[in-house]
Amino acid sequence: MKHFTIVGNWKMHQTPEQAVRLVARLQEKAKPRTHVTSVLCPPFVSIPAVKAEIQDDLFKLGAQNLNEKDEGAFTGEVSGAMLKELADYVIVGHSERRHYEHETDKRIAKKVAAALRNGLTPILCVGEKLSDKQDGHTRRVVVDQLQGGLSQITGAEIGKVIVAYEPVWAIGTGESAAPDQVEPVVNVIRQTIEEMFGEAASGSLEILYGGSVSPDNVKAYLVIEHINGLLVGGASLNFEQFTAIMDTAASISDGR
Ligand code: PEP
Repeated sequence: MKHFTIVGNWKMHQTPEQAVRLVARLQEKAKPRTHVTSVLCPPFVSIPAVKAEIQDDLFKLGAQNLNEKDEGAFTGEVSGAMLKELADYVIVGHSERRHYEHETDKRIAKKVAAALRNGLTPILCVGEKLSDKQDGHTRRVVVDQLQGGLSQITGAEIGKVIVAYEPVWAIGTGESAAPDQVEPVVNVIRQTIEEMFGEAASGSLEILYGGSVSPDNVKAYLVIEHINGLLVGGASLNFEQFTAIMDTAASISDGR
């Protein structure tokens, strides 16, 4: 039986009140999905409201970012030490943060370490830009981001990390990557993890795909052998679409 992790990245959407309404709707339609872990990643300010609304452990909570320090004079920042009272997961190195906030692999590595230090599961995002793909550099970019982002952790910690392959050109564009484009990159990720941390770590690593996932294409990704779930942006803000994605994951998982 394959287990899937389905993560909804709400980005900078949903005030606390709107977030509560969205969770209520998601829960109205929720049925037990035994082999699916569903994770909601609201904006920081909406996390407490969503936490209070979640029933019966139907959803886990994640954040979209964290600071690499645990506390200090860093106005406007939020640390893993704060998040651990509210959430279990944290997205690190999302392409929007790499691009708009100029996050480097060096800083991302410190954030991955900070997440682990505070008992949070980091979801490390890697993926090539359109120009990298056109220039044939996908492999090099993904390997560099993995080697950089995971440079501060030990072999004992890699088992607690999730990697999300998110081709930048597929994020929020409606242009999802074809499954036969995703599969070779997922293999590159496993191979890189094996080189860095050994075969067992590579075999048990959870790898998600993200980039314009919708109810129409979800199945094509989940049947890829080495994919363990999805990171969903736009469709996670629509309760019907996100419910359909989680339900498809549950039915594929039950059938395997
Ligand atoms: C994302 O935000 O990580 C993402 C994959 O977005 P979308 O599903 O909208 O492409």
